[in-house]
Amino acid sequence: MSMDANAWRLIQELSDAPGASGYEEEVIRIARRYAQTIGACEEDFLRNLYIHRKENTGDRPVIMLDAHADEVGLIIQAIKPNGTLRFLQLGRWNRGALISTRVLVRNADGEYIPGVVAAKPVHFMTAAEKTAGEPDVSAMAIDVGATSYEEAVERFHIRIGEPVVPATKFEYDEKNDLFFGKAFDCRLGCAAMLEALRRLQGRALPCDVVAVLSTQEEVGRRNCPVAANRVKPDIAIVMEGCPADDTFCEPYMIQTALKKGPMFRHMDVSVICAPRYQRWALNLAKEKGIPVQEAVREGGGNNAASIQTTLAGAPAIVCGVPVRYAHSANCIASGFDFEASVQMVMALLEHITPEIIASI
Ligand SMILES: [Zn+2]
Repeated sequence: MSMDANAWRLIQELSDAPGASGYEEEVIRIARRYAQTIGACEEDFLRNLYIHRKENTGDRPVIMLDAHADEVGLIIQAIKPNGTLRFLQLGRWNRGALISTRVLVRNADGEYIPGVVAAKPVHFMTAAEKTAGEPDVSAMAIDVGATSYEEAVERFHIRIGEPVVPATKFEYDEKNDLFFGKAFDCRLGCAAMLEALRRLQGRALPCDVVAVLSTQEEVGRRNCPVAANRVKPDIAIVMEGCPADDTFCEPYMIQTALKKGPMFRHMDVSVICAPRYQRWALNLAKEKGIPVQEAVREGGGNNAASIQTTLAGAPAIVCGVPVRYAHSANCIASGFDFEASVQMVMALLEHITPEIIASI
């Protein structure tokens, strides 16, 4: 499997786009432009984006694809007299990776300006502070270089309630087939979903397909239930960027490794994915020779939970691209896993028939 240049440029554009939870406009705009040839687009007031495949007939069961558009970010809570900014998290950060992160802060003009997540420098710590470990988020600040409250407001046009994202720029190491960047959870899922639909353009499928880029997943799966209400799916596939566990876990517990294909999650704290559907999908992967991994998670949480339990509910599975260091400013993923995920979604869309749905 080799990486298609169009695909990695789409990944680059989506990864670099700022889209903290609640502020996903730029991601939605990119996806909407890309989806123009795939089908009709509509948005709701929460900025969930719906893409209806051109080939839909309207009288067949509906497969809902979901990938969340948002990323973990920060939000400006207050401006301090010294010009630094107090913030809250949008979603749960990998906290140890937060200090010293280069960030972009949206100002009142809608521009993203550079800043740094700062904490009390070691030079000024007391002996007790030096041994206390990393400080709480409330003791950190975002520094845009302002010297006073007035300067932060008047020169930098900072205001509270504005989003902050990592300043990381995407890189593709072509030789080693590796992606480096931010927001791979879930922009790799968004990109895999869009790429699969692009490749299926003009092809007849057994069911109708509505793809959703849903918003505000990282702050507690808030907006996917609205999307599920609207689409009324008969069955669903949730695309994800899933935390890889292959660098700091015992070998026998590794369930989401780099370069071993997409992860299918039996359960996490939010959901048990419809077991018969899950087993059918795993068998399909085997039949098609597509590498996949299986995971049973204690923590986590994903939009499949909302789709399975909204209104009449619909069976859902999760197809996740492994991402090392998700929920930090610097993630690593592989082109191999991305391509295997695209192929897996295509296989699912080609093989889910009304009869299969009825049997699940
Ligand atoms: Zn995610």
